Amino acid sequence: MKRRAIKVGHTIIGGGMPVSIQSMCDTNPHDATETLAQMRKLHAVGCEIVRVAVPDTGAIKPLAEVMKAAPMPVVADIHFDYKLAIEAVAAGVNAVRINPGNISEPERVRAVAFACQTKGVPIRIGVNGGSLDKSILAKHGAVTAQALVDSAHAQMEMLRRYDFEDICVSLKCSSVPTTIEAYRLMYAQSDVPLHVGVTEAGTLYHGLVKSSAALGALLVDGIGDTIRVSLCEDVVEEIKAAKAILQAMGLREGVEVIACPTCGRTKIDLKPLVREVERRLEACQTAVKIAVMGCVVNGPGEARDADYGIAGGIDEGLLFRKGEVVAKMPQRELVDGLMALIAGDEANKK
Ligand code: SF4
Repeated sequence: MKRRAIKVGHTIIGGGMPVSIQSMCDTNPHDATETLAQMRKLHAVGCEIVRVAVPDTGAIKPLAEVMKAAPMPVVADIHFDYKLAIEAVAAGVNAVRINPGNISEPERVRAVAFACQTKGVPIRIGVNGGSLDKSILAKHGAVTAQALVDSAHAQMEMLRRYDFEDICVSLKCSSVPTTIEAYRLMYAQSDVPLHVGVTEAGTLYHGLVKSSAALGALLVDGIGDTIRVSLCEDVVEEIKAAKAILQAMGLREGVEVIACPTCGRTKIDLKPLVREVERRLEACQTAVKIAVMGCVVNGPGEARDADYGIAGGIDEGLLFRKGEVVAKMPQRELVDGLMALIAGDEANKK
C-alpha cells in the first residue's frame, strides 16, 4: 500500500520519498543557545528532522528563538498539556508529536488539530508502550502489538473526525518483537506514514543491536518512512547509527568501510587504522567503498569491488584502487596516503 505523505518543514515523510533520519535534542529546553548548538551538530552529521521536548510554558519563548535559526525542521514533543502544543505551533514549529496515552480527551485533541490545521502543521501520533492509554492497557492486559495499534487508531479516528489527515504514526516500545509486529499490523491496515524506531533501546552497543534488528526486519519490507535510532549516548551517535542502518539496507549511499576481522596472518595494527579511516570520513558525503584488510594474501582480492583499500604487510601496507595496487607505504603514512588518493580522484572528477 502506497503511503500518504506529510510535509515537516521542507522534508517529506512518506509518499515514496527516501527514509529520513531523526533525532531528539537532550539539551535544556529553556536554553535556546545550547539547543541550537546541538541542532547544528546534528545537522552537520546528517540529521534531517529534530525533536525538542516542550515540558512547560517556560520552554515556549526559547522555542520561538530556536525556530528563527533552526538548521532543519523541528518537531515539538508534547505530553500531558495540550495547550503547550498550541503554543508550540504559534512559536513556529514544523510538526507536533502528541502521545495518545497522555492527551486523549476529544476537546483537547480537537483544539490541537485546529491549531495545527490553521498553520499546516502535521501531527505525529506517538504511541509509547510505557504510557499507553489506561483503558487500552486494561483491555489487552499488557503492552501488546495490538494494544499499540489500537491506541494509534483511536487517536487517528478522533483527528479524522475533525477533518485532520496530516498524520504520521509511531508505535514504540522497548521490545523488538512487539515493535516489529505492531508496525507490520499498522502497515497492513493503514496508509499513514510511519515513524519507526525502538524506544529506550539502551546503550550504544545494545541499543544499536536492538534498533538494527527491528529496523532491518521492517525496512526490508518497505515499512518505515522516517527513523530514529534511540540511544542512551551522545545524540550524534544516533545519526551515525541511523545512516549506517540505511546504508546496510541499501536505502542510502555513503561511505562504507569494510574491514577484515584480522587473523593469525595479520602483521599490522589494523583496528586503530580502521577506526581512523572511519573518523576521517565521518562527514564525507560521497558514495565510496573502502576496504581495510589485514594482509596482502587476501586483502586486495577479497576487496576487489571496493573503490579503495589498504592491505597490511609487516608494519607497512599497500594502497589499492579497484583491486589494483597503487602504492606501498609504512603503517604511519597509510591513512594520509589513502585520504590523498581519494581527494585526488575527487578533484579530478570536477
Ligand atoms: Fe586474515 Fe588477511 Fe583475511 Fe584479514 S584479510 S582475515 S589478515 S587472511
